Amino acid sequence: MLIGVDFDNTIVSYDALFHRLAVEQGHIGPEVPATKEQVRDTMRRAGREDAWTELQGYVYGARICEASAFPGVKEFFQTCRAAGVEICIVSHKTKHPFRGPAYDLHRAALDWLEHNGFFDPQGIDLPRESVYLRTTLADKLRQIGDCGCAHFIDDLPELLSEPAFPVAVERWLFDPNDHHPHEARFARAGSWRELDERLLRVAGSCR
Ligand SMILES: [Mg+2]
Repeated sequence: MLIGVDFDNTIVSYDALFHRLAVEQGHIGPEVPATKEQVRDTMRRAGREDAWTELQGYVYGARICEASAFPGVKEFFQTCRAAGVEICIVSHKTKHPFRGPAYDLHRAALDWLEHNGFFDPQGIDLPRESVYLRTTLADKLRQIGDCGCAHFIDDLPELLSEPAFPVAVERWLFDPNDHHPHEARFARAGSWRELDERLLRVAGSCR
């Protein structure tokens, strides 16, 4: 069995980093709640849309290694590895940010995975060729189908509900901040521990 997983905001949690850098750069006050959405909305309300776009490039490019893995995601990968369940990562990511310095966002994502032990042969041991960074949404959807994923986990309902999303793939919405409590079109999980319990147990391959 193969499980496909999105990268940004599914494996990597940027909430604390966006908040810290936005405060550091004087875009928001420290009282703004520390989620990416709250930082974005506060900057937009203040007319700082361009600064928000540039901050994203800075976070995803220059400072990504300061972002954390979501709790439980490394354990999920390790449980899969121990059970012989394969995982691939499929991400839609431009090669460079839309504004600001031309950071290599693909290189940065691979560096983050390296830095967090995903390629460590003594640990998660994810094959590098199982990481697919695609520059368009259409290519991401095609790749999910081409990989032959049985399940795909993503934080965006818009992605999972795309008409071109491969029909044979079971869709899982990763919703750690409970943004989509009424979403009924897909299975929904609030944490990686819950995915471990529900997806792997339902799949019947690990227990
Ligand atoms: Mg995502």
